[in-house]
Order: sequence, then C-alpha cells, then structure tokens
Amino acid sequence: MGVSVQCSPVGPLAGGRDPYRPPSSQSGGVSLGSMQRQVNLHVDLVKKGTYGRRVVRPMNPRYITIHSTQNYTAGADKHSEALKNGALRSPKTRYGNRIGFLIWHFTVEDGKAIQHLPTSEQGEHADFAGPGNRLSIGIEMCENRGNNLATTVERTAKLTAVLMKQKGIPLNNVVPHYHWPRRGKTPPNKNCPHFLLDHGRPGAKWRKFLGRVDYYYRQITP
Ligand SMILES: [Zn+2]
Repeated sequence: MGVSVQCSPVGPLAGGRDPYRPPSSQSGGVSLGSMQRQVNLHVDLVKKGTYGRRVVRPMNPRYITIHSTQNYTAGADKHSEALKNGALRSPKTRYGNRIGFLIWHFTVEDGKAIQHLPTSEQGEHADFAGPGNRLSIGIEMCENRGNNLATTVERTAKLTAVLMKQKGIPLNNVVPHYHWPRRGKTPPNKNCPHFLLDHGRPGAKWRKFLGRVDYYYRQITP
C-alpha cells in the first residue's frame, strides 16, 4: 500500500490561494457584499418628516466627507438616538441653516456602523448651504472613551470604499470636513476630523487614511 509523501499543498493551484501572496493584495477578490458585511452596517433611519428629515432634500452624492464627533462620552447608538429625538440642533446662522437640526448619513464606531439618512438625501453636517452639505455623504467617527479609534478608522475606510464603489465617487472626492469652508465662521475651515489632521490641516495622517480607503477599494472585485 503506497503512502505518498507530499508537502502540504502550496501554490495557487493546490489550495486556491497562493500562501506567499499577502491576503487581499491589489486586485484581491472581495465582493462588494462581503466588504459591506465587514462594515457591519445597521440601518436606523431618522423618521421621514421629523427633525433632520423634516424636509427631504434629494441629493446625487459626489463627495464623501469624513468627520469625528468630538464627543468623548457618546458612541454610535447614542448619536443615533439623539438624531432621532431631535436633540442635535444646528447652530443658528445667516448662511443657510435650512432645517435647524444636524443630520448626517453614517456614524462609525469600533464594532459597527449605523446609517441615519439615505445617501440620496442631503444632510446638515458640513457647511450650511454649501456644497459639502449639498453634494456629500457625511460620515462621523466616534471617539468616546472605550471605543477603539484605530478599529473605528479601519471600519470607516471600508465603509468609504463601499460607498465609492456604489456611487462611483473617486478617491479625490473623499475629503475631511476641513475641506469645506463654513461661511461666517472663524476659522472657516474646521479642524475635523482632528485626529486625522496634522496641525489642523490635511497632511501625512490624512494621506495615510486615504491609503487605507484605496486599499479596501482595490480589494473589491468589479
Ligand atoms: Zn466635522
């Protein structure tokens, strides 16, 4: 009875995956659905006709705007509740505060993301009546104590990659809140998301984040 001695299967023909190739390199091979599942998205929309959705304003998104909450006690669930209860009022301004409540599309924390607003509707998170609100999907990253920030940033990068794929948005149009000047505010460009900016401006940390977004985007199979 011949027992064939062979090495453990290696190479792309043996096991399907070349073990010498780093997982998910370049054109990788993760389906959009699989990447979406990795984001762990919970949909918990603000009720249509209330607070931030009192007026439904259609949007064809061309940008993705990244924020951080600067709230060190509340995670994604508490932000979702606050948006649904009308607890987050937008600052009074002469420059186009049209609905009086803050609203954005997604909040991300280390273990999940929550969607508050359809991506086909404008939010109120960036620059009053400016293009940041009129044309961009708003994503807030949680930074409450106990929430792992690095994991939150990775999850945000995955969600951004999924949205780019779904909406045909290029990497150049993934911007920090800083990108959108706020009329009537000093300084006009907000230091947001502060932990991804260098001295209050996009620099090495922001470029690194865009690198992570690009990495995940390239993993998604066409
Ligand atoms: Zn912001």
